[in-house]
Amino acid sequence: MSINLDFDRQHIWHPYTSMLTPLPVYPIVRADGCELELEDGRKLIDGTASWWSAVHGYNHPRLNQAISSQLSQMAHVMFGGITHQPAVALCQQLLKMVPANLSKVFLADSGSIAVEVALKMALQYWQGVGQTQKTRLVSLRKGYHGDTFAAMAVCDPHDSMHSMFSQLLPQHDFLPAPQSAFAGPFDDNDLTPLRDLLRRSANDIAAITLEPIVQGYGGMRFYHPDYLRGVRELCDQYQVLLIADEIATGFGRSGKLFACEHAAITPDIMCLGKALSGGYLTLAATLCSDEIARGISLSAAGGLMHGPTFMANPLACAVALESIRIIAEGHWQQQVAAIEQQLSAELAPCAKLAAVKQVRVLGAIGVLEMRQKVDVAKLQAEFVERGVWIRPFNNLIYIMPPFTISSAQLSRLCWSMYEVASSC
Ligand SMILES: *Cc1c(COP(=O)(O)O)cnc(C)c1O
Repeated sequence: MSINLDFDRQHIWHPYTSMLTPLPVYPIVRADGCELELEDGRKLIDGTASWWSAVHGYNHPRLNQAISSQLSQMAHVMFGGITHQPAVALCQQLLKMVPANLSKVFLADSGSIAVEVALKMALQYWQGVGQTQKTRLVSLRKGYHGDTFAAMAVCDPHDSMHSMFSQLLPQHDFLPAPQSAFAGPFDDNDLTPLRDLLRRSANDIAAITLEPIVQGYGGMRFYHPDYLRGVRELCDQYQVLLIADEIATGFGRSGKLFACEHAAITPDIMCLGKALSGGYLTLAATLCSDEIARGISLSAAGGLMHGPTFMANPLACAVALESIRIIAEGHWQQQVAAIEQQLSAELAPCAKLAAVKQVRVLGAIGVLEMRQKVDVAKLQAEFVERGVWIRPFNNLIYIMPPFTISSAQLSRLCWSMYEVASSC
């Protein structure tokens, strides 16, 4: 029986869409390796890794095996008053990979929730250590941290959903997005607004939340590591916590295992998600240091006040463990380096196209910044015609393919981007 697209259109929300005038959706029946299969049998090379998550590709034998063996033991059990091997083994492996100061793990059920938990950790920490006035949160313009309310409130105030919910959202402080590009020279003026803010108000500020190096949905911007290094130094100097949202960048995407490594810094709190489960199930994590955990335990509540029903879901933990074991084996380093090289070479010609403002590549991320907003539905159809799955938004045509993509497949993606961008 075929997938009922009419029913879908009338009754099912898709991300960021209208129920009355929805964008077209494509029926996918199977995914294998780096290809998605449409219901009519056509195959599409995947340029999205399903929004940064499927880094090892689809239908991966080891990930499948990890889920099925866990399934025969138990699909789920509550985490209140109970623990289980998938959670313990996952966190053991995770702690071997993250910066050494991070020692405590909260397993959340999505990236947005991991950010909510990170903010709670920061606020409860300052309560616990008796600095109850430290409640202000700082983040960057062009930042993106998720769609739930607290996460939304630290996203870019213009490009995000702030305007719609402004009466309901707390008014936090926003710093200008750093202007120094990843590969260019560093302009120290990028740090001036933060210096000024901290000089005036550090006593009231709990934490700075940022995406290290790669500002994703706020514009696919890659900023200079010295900015991140400078933020870390200022946070130390003024006793403000640094929350690194590595949900998109974690596990190799930017060319380092974690994007913080580009600046050789360690955050006080780190959020992981997306690639954590290899794109199989929804799972995220918020990690913090011993010191943060100590402070939280001194707060009035005595514990960290969060506990989702599906916390540490065993199936998700089991597949995440296998996924990060594959990462720990290290092949991603050559894979991402090769992707970066090929993206740089094969997207470079796009820079000459009239509609293209800039071509940017970092790690396994390739971006065409267009001069104007693109027609998503039209471009999407053109990509599907060319046998590739690429989903543009705003003025960005970009890819972040599975690390396992072949060089021939990647060439198809790059060539399609060139063709589609030249028709814009
Ligand atoms: C995707 C993303 C989130 C939100 O994660 P969800 O799992 O979609 O809730 C938060 N921060 C960053 C940087 C992201 O890329």
